[in-house]
Amino acid sequence: MDPTTLGHRIGGAWRQDGEWTRDTNPADPDQLVARFPMDHDGTVLRDAVAAARAALPEWARTPALQRAEVLFRAGGLIAERAESLAAELCREEGKPIAEARAEVGRASAILRYFAGRAADEIGHVYGSAQHGTRALTLQQPLGVVGVITPWNFPIAIPAWKIAPAIVYGNTVVFKPAEATPLLAARFVEALVDSGMPPGVVNLVFAPGPVTGSALIGPSGVDAISFTGSNAVGRRLEVAAAEAHCKIQLELGGKNAVVVAEDADFDRAVEHVLLGAFGSSGQKCTATSRVIAVGSSYRPLLDRLTAAVAGLRAGDPLDPATTIGPLISADAAARVSSRVAAAVAAGATSLARTDVPDRGWFHPAVLLGDVDPGMAVAREELFGPVLAVLPATDLDEALAVHNSVGFGLSGAIFSRDLATVSRFTHAARVGIVHVNGQTAGAEPHLPFGGMGDSSSWSREQGRAAELFYTQTKTVYLDGLPEAGLFDHTASGR
Ligand code: ADP
Repeated sequence: MDPTTLGHRIGGAWRQDGEWTRDTNPADPDQLVARFPMDHDGTVLRDAVAAARAALPEWARTPALQRAEVLFRAGGLIAERAESLAAELCREEGKPIAEARAEVGRASAILRYFAGRAADEIGHVYGSAQHGTRALTLQQPLGVVGVITPWNFPIAIPAWKIAPAIVYGNTVVFKPAEATPLLAARFVEALVDSGMPPGVVNLVFAPGPVTGSALIGPSGVDAISFTGSNAVGRRLEVAAAEAHCKIQLELGGKNAVVVAEDADFDRAVEHVLLGAFGSSGQKCTATSRVIAVGSSYRPLLDRLTAAVAGLRAGDPLDPATTIGPLISADAAARVSSRVAAAVAAGATSLARTDVPDRGWFHPAVLLGDVDPGMAVAREELFGPVLAVLPATDLDEALAVHNSVGFGLSGAIFSRDLATVSRFTHAARVGIVHVNGQTAGAEPHLPFGGMGDSSSWSREQGRAAELFYTQTKTVYLDGLPEAGLFDHTASGR
C-alpha cells in the first residue's frame, strides 16, 4: 500500500471506509501530501469506541511497567524516524524544518517521559483515627478516553495526550484535525510497530461536529481531552457535563511579554521574535503582545522593526526559512482582515516581510500604536502578527497584561528581582517565563492556562495523572495493631 494512502486504525486493523479526502501542502496547495478516508456519518467513530471498550479490561490489568514498554519503544522509533517525520510534518503543516525536527524530538521525549512515570507510586498510605485501621489510595484508569487534537502540533499534542492516557491504563479513540492526518497516522504506526495491543489506540479521521456527537453520550467515551478553539471547546464542555463525561480543554491564548526598563533588550527582542513568529504565530502559547514599560518602548520598537524586516518567508523545507505558510487559505484571509481592521482603527504597520506568491503565506507584521481596547490586542489571531503596547509603569503593564480573557502564558524581561517577583505572582496566566519566550513546554511540567485558556485541569507532568486516573480510597480495617505499631520494631 502507498504509505501516503492512509487508513483509520480500529482494533487491530487499518480501515479505509469513508469519503477519500486530499491532504495538501500549505506552502504549495497543488501538492498532494496524502489521501485519507473521512468518516462523515460517525460509523467508524462508534466502531472505535467499541474497539477501545473491548480492549480496556486487558490493558487496564496489564502492569503499568509492561504498558510502559510500548511507550519506550515508540519513543525510540519516532527518534529513529525523526528525519522523515520532520520532512512530512513540514509538508503537511508548514512549519520550518528546524521547528518540525524539534516537535518530532519532543513527541519522542514525551513518550519516554510517560513511560518512566509507570515506575512511580500508584497511591499513598494513611493512618486512621481508628485502632487497627490503615487506609490507602489507588489511582485507577478512567476508561475510554477521546483525544481530539488540532493541526498546529500534529505529533507532539497527540503524544502528550495519548502517552499518559495509555500508560495509566486507559484506551483511546484518537480524532486528529482534518488538516494533519499524516502525522497522526505516523504516530499511531509507531505505537503499532512497538507492539501496542489491538484496540488500545484507535485512530479515526472524521469531521469535527460528527466527532462530538459520536463520542459524547450514553454509549460514548468516559473522558475527553481536547485542544482547539474556544467555541468548540465550550460546546464540548456543555455536552460532556450532560453526559457525565470527564473533560479537559486547552484553548486559546493572547500571550504578552512585558519588557521592563532594565531589561536586556537584545535578549528580549530575540525571544519575542521566536515567540511571535515561530510556526508563523500558530501556537496557543505564541507571543502576540509586547507591553513596553516606560523608556523601553522606543528602543524595543526600533529593534523589533529591524528584526521583523529580516525574517524570511519561504519553503519550510529550506533551512533559511523563518516564516512558513499558514495552515489554509481561510486562515491567511482571516489574519489579513484582522490586520486591516487594526490599521483602520489606528494601529501603525511598522514592518511586513515579503512572502511568496504561491501558498497560504501571510507576512510577519509588527503593529505599533496599539491601544489595549483594540480587537488586535484582545483576540487570538493565530498568525504572524505582533502588537506593541506602551505602559507607563509596571502597574499599568500588569493591568494591560491581565485585561484579556485568555490567561495561558506570559513573560517578563527584567534583571530586577522585585519586578520579576511581582510579575510572577500577579500575572493571570498558567505559565510564566522569566527572560524567555512565552512558547515552550517541557513534558514533566504542568501545562495549562487560567481564565478562558483552559478548563481547570492541567496537562503533562504530575498533572496528567490526575486527569487520566481516578482515585479509590481503601480502608484496611481489623488489622492486628501490634503488627503495625509494634514498639519493638522501633529504636535500636
Ligand atoms: P482550530 O480552529 O484550531 O482548527 P477547532 O476547535 O476547530 O480548532 O478544531 C480542533 C479539533 O476539534 C479538530 O480535531 C476538529 O476536527 C475538532 N472539532 C471541531 N468541531 C468539533 C466538534 N463539534 N466536536 C468535536 N470535535 C470538534
